[in-house]
Amino acid sequence: MPSAPAQTVLNWHVTEACNYRCGYCYAHWERPSKTELIRDAAATRALLAELYMHFAGRSGARPPRLNIAGGEPLLHQGRLLPLLKLARAIGFEVSMISNASLLDAPMLTALTGELSMLGLSLDAARPEVLAQIGRVDRHGRTLDLDRLAEAVAQARQAHPHWTLKLNTVVCAPNWQDDLGDLVRRLAPSRWKVLRALPVVSQALEVSDAQFQAFVERHRALSSVMVVEDHADMQGSYIMIDPLGRFFQNRPGAFGYDYSPPILEAGAGAAFAQIGWSALKFARRYTPAAAAAEVCA
Ligand code: SF4
Repeated sequence: MPSAPAQTVLNWHVTEACNYRCGYCYAHWERPSKTELIRDAAATRALLAELYMHFAGRSGARPPRLNIAGGEPLLHQGRLLPLLKLARAIGFEVSMISNASLLDAPMLTALTGELSMLGLSLDAARPEVLAQIGRVDRHGRTLDLDRLAEAVAQARQAHPHWTLKLNTVVCAPNWQDDLGDLVRRLAPSRWKVLRALPVVSQALEVSDAQFQAFVERHRALSSVMVVEDHADMQGSYIMIDPLGRFFQNRPGAFGYDYSPPILEAGAGAAFAQIGWSALKFARRYTPAAAAAEVCA
């Protein structure tokens, strides 16, 4: 019997801007203009409506999920909550990926009122390791884990329905770390462990043995840990860049291929240009798929 179609996930990278500089970051797009679509409320509304119209009937039993990613989406703090509310009103299920640096308890509580899932990218607990990866802002600040744990606890109390996912990219500075205490403290429903791709830079690359050593060290967390090596990425990841274009990994080369702007061509025509192979390639661990997992 054919299996039911999976929920469609549309990853909209609303911005390339980020307050961190991770050495493995994939959030770099070619930009013929600097105008991010999220800055234009009418265009944002039109984009979401267009996407929903095209994908609502192709998402199995559940509504399509709009996953807001970056860059760091919280750099658009004032626009973010209205965007999540709008997406839900249109009919999407909504999730978001953040590097957590700008989250405090009131903001997290407000956001989780709208989200079915929040993904946080957390690579290390020690400030010196975070700094080596590039998870440090221009003032030299790394993530305040106590503040984050308190914010998560408050948001859970206010809104029990949302789930927390953690993403960790295993790379040269952190492969020897033990993140067990940090993961247990935040108690995610899923902890995705990914391997840094040597696409942007080889400086943070780890060997097979180093990646496996990290995974083995955390076996006690296997009930929540999901390990994704280069070849394992599954699912239908559809990617939209900050200018409102579908994009996909360029096969065999660095960089991405882009559709025409969705608002000019229409979602169906734009997706037809890039969509089928976007799905095909996203079934593997490509930079495009990885960007949706770890950026921010
Ligand atoms: S990986 Fe995420 S947190 Fe790191 S620089 Fe890129 S967008 Fe920012």
